[in-house]
Amino acid sequence: MQLMNYINGNFCPQASGKWITNLNPATGEEICKVPVSNSKDVKEAINSAKKAYPNWSKNTPHERAMWLDKIANKLEEMFEEIAQLESMDTGKPISLSRSVDANRSVANFRFFSEMIKGMEIEEFEMKDATNYVIQKPIGVGALITPWNLPLYLLSWKVAPAIGMGNTVVCKPSELTPMTADLLMRAVDEIGLPAGVINLVHGNGIETGSSLVEDSDIDFVSFTGGTVTGSKVASSAASSFKKLSLELGGKNSSIVFADCDFEKTIAGVVRSGFLNQGQICLCGSRIFIEEEIYEDFKNSLINAVEEMKIGDPLDEETDLGALISKEHLKKIEYYSNLAIEEGGVLLTGGVPCLPKDFENGNWIAPIIVEGLSYESRCSKEEIFGPMVTLHKFKEESELIKMVNNTRYGLAGSIWTKDIERGRRLSESIETGMIWINTWLHRDLRVPFGGVKDSGVGREGGRWSLGFFSEAMNVCVKQE
Ligand code: NAD
Repeated sequence: MQLMNYINGNFCPQASGKWITNLNPATGEEICKVPVSNSKDVKEAINSAKKAYPNWSKNTPHERAMWLDKIANKLEEMFEEIAQLESMDTGKPISLSRSVDANRSVANFRFFSEMIKGMEIEEFEMKDATNYVIQKPIGVGALITPWNLPLYLLSWKVAPAIGMGNTVVCKPSELTPMTADLLMRAVDEIGLPAGVINLVHGNGIETGSSLVEDSDIDFVSFTGGTVTGSKVASSAASSFKKLSLELGGKNSSIVFADCDFEKTIAGVVRSGFLNQGQICLCGSRIFIEEEIYEDFKNSLINAVEEMKIGDPLDEETDLGALISKEHLKKIEYYSNLAIEEGGVLLTGGVPCLPKDFENGNWIAPIIVEGLSYESRCSKEEIFGPMVTLHKFKEESELIKMVNNTRYGLAGSIWTKDIERGRRLSESIETGMIWINTWLHRDLRVPFGGVKDSGVGREGGRWSLGFFSEAMNVCVKQE
């Protein structure tokens, strides 16, 4: 199977004739060939978006929201296909790709449709004048997404971007292109005007960078790694493109002795290992109050060892495969580094799996203890099924340890003392904190990080703000 770009309402081949082979992470088998688009393809896609912009941006917000509803309806019809493709492409368990990926992809379009229908013009009265603020579209946008939540994250950008009147060129991860292709089939089938959404497949070096550098791109919404984000930021800066960066994380789960023990074990396991620990919000450094440290550690190991690792398409599977051989090597590198840094591996390693999976990218979840909070393993983003355990006594010492990372995306605090949880939240250098839960999302709230975890916020009105330009009109009274 060979994928195609989607430009100006047509599926079309790439100019270069070059391909990337997309492999199934669980089996190592080929899924499809992915086009490597070059600057010529990228320019064509941008021109198509530019051509569509005047008419699309003239639609009323309500008319555009109706298109988002049509896309949501179409995706809902394709719900099971989304889940199957996402599981095959990423190696994640099918139960997860149904409950999270397919579900949220539909929900993102519905949510932004409702938000846009409910938008109101803000007014500021003066003694002798009235100001009113209108949110105008920006122009043509580049939407660049990673492999861990492919359609979930792409739809999170496409819906508010086109809903606010922009036209876009999408560049999904070359490792997981299948559901971006499905989205193009969906918009094609519902007859969305040509050029409103375009898609170029390809790698970062050739395709992604050509897109960001192009002078006809007015804004860039990027989700991915911090190192890539920094390159994207430098290339967008010279022409003052509006920029949103959602980058890496190294998040803490903080467990106090007064927590609800069983619920906290379940929550910390979920936060550490959901999607094989390949979610930017995963809590991969677990700080446990000294008096329950041993009990908590032992229960955690038991709970992790009970998780079922294997066939992503099996309904009972808890943990699937890692995205690629390179990524598996990265996790193995960090588990060796943990030992070099003085840590002890409490569980994890090579799982025993049927022959069908011998060429896949597998590792059983790893728990490490005994590392300093200053070790690389407890500060750097690993982005896989590996967590480090740390003991704490005092709150002041805890804050110092938790903030000792360049990242600042999310975190969770587990305690019955909600006042303490709220107080502590404010001392943590991060964009988001959950108390007694994790990844409990209300799509209206701001999403994003501080420090190396990103610039700007998406979600709810923050997305509508990013994907538009606020313009003030001041009318002097007679
Ligand atoms: P990545 O940075 O390697 O790639 C992300 C996307 O950028 C891909 O589409 C890639 O092709 C493209 N790209 C690569 N180089 C580029 C360049 N020079 N110019 C333009 N585009 C380029 O990230 P990844 O490995 O796909 O994803 C994992 C990372 O994403 C992790 O660090 C994770 O924390 C982060 N992430 C963050 C969030 C968030 O919301 N903060 C969400 C999901 C993932």
